[in-house]
Amino acid sequence: MRIGVLGLPNTGKTTLFNALTGMDVEVGPVATLKPEPHVGMVKVPDVRLDYLAGVYEPKKTTFADMELFDMMGIVPGGGKDSPGRRVCNQVRDVQALVQVVRGFSNPMVPAYEDRVDPVKDVELVEMELLFADLELVEKRLERIEVSLKKGLDKDALLKERQVLERCRSALEDEKMLRDMEFSHEELTILNTYQFLTQRPELIVVNVHEEADSGEKERLVAAVKEQLSSADTDVVALSAKVEMEISQLDDEDRQMFMDDLGIVTPAAELVAQHAYSLLGLIPFFTVGKDEVKAWTIRAGTTAVKAAGKIHSDIERGFIRAEVIAYQDFVACEGNVGKAKEKGLFRLEGKDYVVKDGDIINFRFNV
Ligand code: GDP
Repeated sequence: MRIGVLGLPNTGKTTLFNALTGMDVEVGPVATLKPEPHVGMVKVPDVRLDYLAGVYEPKKTTFADMELFDMMGIVPGGGKDSPGRRVCNQVRDVQALVQVVRGFSNPMVPAYEDRVDPVKDVELVEMELLFADLELVEKRLERIEVSLKKGLDKDALLKERQVLERCRSALEDEKMLRDMEFSHEELTILNTYQFLTQRPELIVVNVHEEADSGEKERLVAAVKEQLSSADTDVVALSAKVEMEISQLDDEDRQMFMDDLGIVTPAAELVAQHAYSLLGLIPFFTVGKDEVKAWTIRAGTTAVKAAGKIHSDIERGFIRAEVIAYQDFVACEGNVGKAKEKGLFRLEGKDYVVKDGDIINFRFNV
């Protein structure tokens, strides 16, 4: 899963990036001028995997992960070929966006237009994404006209033009593509592009270290009210505090979180939201060698899930041996007990894998 972190300059993108990846990239107003994105991996925390690792004591435990791209700040209103537009085009091949907006004041770190107004800032960045998509649509429409004049594949081009014209008029009305209804055929055409306003998006309001839960709730509600877009979600956290927490060892981390009343650390919060926005779920494979979380889309069948592990397992699929995570815990991690209770199931190709299923695939190639 690839996720792009973007927003106006000095909103705390790199700070959040460090908090999520555990890296220690330089932050601050100067470091903000990064021409290339920072890239890092984020482990998707899951207490269920911790439990399974406790039962199997494997040589290796592999969490699901996300690849994070920390982009340069977007300066609004630059138009074509501006650095802001370049950032938009650089971030196109991600599956989801995390937009960081400034909710903290800090006189040492200049804010865009010297104000702290998350609602306005979200609006500005959304407009930049929208303009970037509009530019892409217009460019493609121009090329289609040229190809049509040359008499190339007329039917396909006319269909493509029709759907792009729909997109153009929506974008001109300041409507995000994720809020539009498309037919399957239209989506197939659109998926050959990488439209930013079609991507699910998590807005992170980066609040002051001392913001209490009331302040966080107020900001989240204000941004949600303004946004009202499909496949978007809003959370508030302090990236600075989260970065400090991520740099502590396990024991100190828990103490620090308890002190600050943080129940879910940022890495987990962002992973949870990204997962649900993208309609993803994990299933687990277990053994003495490795306990591992695999990421699939909700609704994936057993045979396709098998293909995630290896194409041979998909090809030679016989059946899936499945225990639901909750059942496994109820049987105290004892497979024999699960069998006795009828909680160890044999499922066929078309079984729809559930969040947290523990699966062993039988196959023959
Ligand atoms: P970016 O330009 O969006 O990547 O911003 P950075 O992550 O580099 O942060 C810019 C500056 O803002 C740094 O000096 C950070 O220490 C500061 N900063 C980030 N988050 C917070 C926060 O939650 N509270 C305060 N007071 N400062 C923060």
